[in-house]
Amino acid sequence: MILDRDGVLNNLVEYPDGLVAPRSIEDVSIPEDSLSMTRTFRTWGLDLAIASNQPDVARGLLSIEESLNIQRVIETSHGIGTSFVCFHDDKDLCLCRKPRPGMLFSAMGEFKVKPEETLFIGDSWRDAQAAANAGVRPYILGREEAGRDYPSTVEFFSSRGQIVERLRKLTCD
Ligand SMILES: [Zn+2]
Repeated sequence: MILDRDGVLNNLVEYPDGLVAPRSIEDVSIPEDSLSMTRTFRTWGLDLAIASNQPDVARGLLSIEESLNIQRVIETSHGIGTSFVCFHDDKDLCLCRKPRPGMLFSAMGEFKVKPEETLFIGDSWRDAQAAANAGVRPYILGREEAGRDYPSTVEFFSSRGQIVERLRKLTCD
């Protein structure tokens, strides 16, 4: 199970430029339903990894040290020990920035699992597309973004609890 970070494992934060990723440790807040989601996945014995775009570092909005501190707090809260983070922006043309699939391939390599045994939980078009580009099924928290083409395999969910219930059905069938 690969998870996006901001908007899935922790709350987005209101800044003048919109709802954004945390820019300091003080910005980090983790919703209870998110903690109970990862707790349930762990009780099912699933391997968990984070795959997160952090372009605000390339944009000069926070230091790499602060970004790593934030990452550590979120990992620790969720009991997740494996993370892949892309600090680049579009102009860097890296292989890791979602919708490119680099971080998902790295995560699957780490756990030696196949795309068809893997699920990606995200909250954006970039997440859905990155998952599809890696051959992984995308579960998206929230609504479809206007003007984007989604892969045919995407499923949308209105809450984290709904994702857990969907998987509970799949695992118990
Ligand atoms: Zn990158």
